[in-house]
Amino acid sequence: MSSRVGEEDPPILSAECGAVNKDEYLSEVSPRHKPWDVHRAEADEVQQAYAGGADRHQRYADRVGHCSQVLEFARDPPKKSGKQKYTLKNAWFCRVRHCPVCQWRRSLMWQAKVYRALPSLLRDFPDTRFLFMTLTIRNCPVSELRRTLIHMAKAWKRLVELRSWPARGWVRAVEITRSQKDRSAHPHYHCLLMVPPAYFQGDYLKQHEWAELWQQCLRIDYKPVVDIRTVKLDLVQSSQRVNKPPARMWEAVAEILKYAVKPSDMIRDHEWFLQLADQLQKTRGPPSSRGHLLPLGRVAGGSYRLLG
Ligand SMILES: [Zn+2]
Repeated sequence: MSSRVGEEDPPILSAECGAVNKDEYLSEVSPRHKPWDVHRAEADEVQQAYAGGADRHQRYADRVGHCSQVLEFARDPPKKSGKQKYTLKNAWFCRVRHCPVCQWRRSLMWQAKVYRALPSLLRDFPDTRFLFMTLTIRNCPVSELRRTLIHMAKAWKRLVELRSWPARGWVRAVEITRSQKDRSAHPHYHCLLMVPPAYFQGDYLKQHEWAELWQQCLRIDYKPVVDIRTVKLDLVQSSQRVNKPPARMWEAVAEILKYAVKPSDMIRDHEWFLQLADQLQKTRGPPSSRGHLLPLGRVAGGSYRLLG
């Protein structure tokens, strides 16, 4: 991948035809932009996976192949240190759901939305605490993924409507991983819950109680694996928290809103990936992929809902 960096620079894009110089990587010109090279290389692999599929997959191969192939950067004036900053000004993105470049950019956008909402949440609820929760269900064959995700979504709806549901705000995202052992799919939810201090004083739910609630909502006859942990907040004064959400929070948000499917899982097993893509076709994607992560602000009762 290359970038156009300005008239006087050695031409990275050839001046006559705009063809890409394939010998030069963006990260060599601007190390800060290395993730572009990484994700574009993954996109090449995902393109191949689509290209090896049925007729219906070919147009995705085409689109992912063209995604972000030419990035136009503007160059800021050099600093005294001699360092220069490049800012992306123009590019074409394919917006294919499983394109590694587009998935990466979408996750950065969702993270930014939550980060922007955090200061006002912490200002309005300075005593609030956060829980990081993972809800799972038994692995399913990838051919059963669509049905399983619908089942989980219904269970989630029941869970948040329970009287004992303690959160006054939450963010939830789906992740699907591939079992190396038997190629089954492992769909699970990563959630960030915002709870009042009363949760730790009397409304506390132990890990096994969370697992029981999730089992009850899934209406299954086994105890599902649930992980719940408190996001440890740095001991800073609340006035500082307002302007600077604790580092652990940022880590938790980044963990939740990273991607729905790990690029390495898509690349490792093309057949598995194509089945997964078909299963997720025309389903309501991970909520985060549908723009539901927009903070909706204050709702009746003085609580926040970060994600609908
Ligand atoms: Zn793309």
